[in-house]
Amino acid sequence: QAEQALFFAKAQGRDNVQSHGDMHGTGRAFRDFELASRLDRAIRQKLLGVHYQPVVDARTGAVVGVEALARWRDEKYGQVGPDRFIPLAEQLGLIRELGDLMLEQSLAWFSQLVRGGADLKLSINVSNRQQATADFAGSLLERVRRHGLRPGQVKLEITESIAMEGVASASGLLRTLSEQGFALSIDDFGTGFSSLSQLHVLPVDELKIDRSFVRRLRTREGRAIVKAIVDMAHQLDLVLVAEGVEDAETAEALRELGVEMLQGYYFSRPLAPEECARFLLPERACASGM
Ligand code: C2E
Ligand code: MG
Ligand code: MG
Ligand code: MG
Repeated sequence: QAEQALFFAKAQGRDNVQSHGDMHGTGRAFRDFELASRLDRAIRQKLLGVHYQPVVDARTGAVVGVEALARWRDEKYGQVGPDRFIPLAEQLGLIRELGDLMLEQSLAWFSQLVRGGADLKLSINVSNRQQATADFAGSLLERVRRHGLRPGQVKLEITESIAMEGVASASGLLRTLSEQGFALSIDDFGTGFSSLSQLHVLPVDELKIDRSFVRRLRTREGRAIVKAIVDMAHQLDLVLVAEGVEDAETAEALRELGVEMLQGYYFSRPLAPEECARFLLPERACASGM
């Protein structure tokens, strides 16, 4: 495929620059190319999976949502992280297919959970290029309804950079999604260069404070930064979620600062679908195929 050839050329070019005269450069380029073609096949054969990480209410500890996280286990390379394969799928022009696959799996799983009595929101990560695909909003709405769900049960996590890339062009789509009833969240907040006042023109409901800030909460400075984010966000009527909460002290500090929702290894790692269903609906010990 032309896109793959282009990818290979780029990968090679990059390695040639980086490892001038180094024998391993070609090997690395080949590995990149092989990984790309294996990913291509995995997406087409629908071999990717989804894990789910609970999001809890900071005050009560009750699970209020789950975030869908893409997983790919390759036979040769083992577990490959989404930070690696999502950008690769974008370069290969396969992000639409990957996104659709993720949506199908997570909506099917989630609708079963809802039918089992769970009252939660499903968060889905949407990448820049995925969002830019034709009729993203229309096809998403159709899919959600087809699974018997309402848009209000689904939250879309958008990175700060997309939101800001062109506030003008992004806001059209975000407005449509918001009018359709989807909740919108800015993921990894604080890692980009946007200001809250800029973000405020977008129809966003929630900010997810990036893990890098959460990690620095133990220091006086780190705490001051998080406090400033929380206070400003609250003045703009935004709800806050903290990601990467790994211990009780951090959870407590965030609760004291007024962060509404918490997510992280302290509460739960991302779980396989059936494991997560068991976690959420313990009384129904793993209903059919969940
Ligand atoms: P994200 O949306 O910010 O997701 C949070 C990441 O932090 C996840 O990594 C999660 O496993 C990890 N994490 C959760 N709690 C903790 C914690 O307490 N400590 C630490 N150190 N890490 C924690 P993961 O699953 O590797 O995903 C990485 C990124 O890949 C995601 O970041 C998201 O941007 C992207 N991604 C994942 N699935 C999808 C997808 O289906 N579509 C798109 N477009 N992007 C996805
Ligand atoms: Mg996310
Ligand atoms: Mg995040
Ligand atoms: Mg993050």
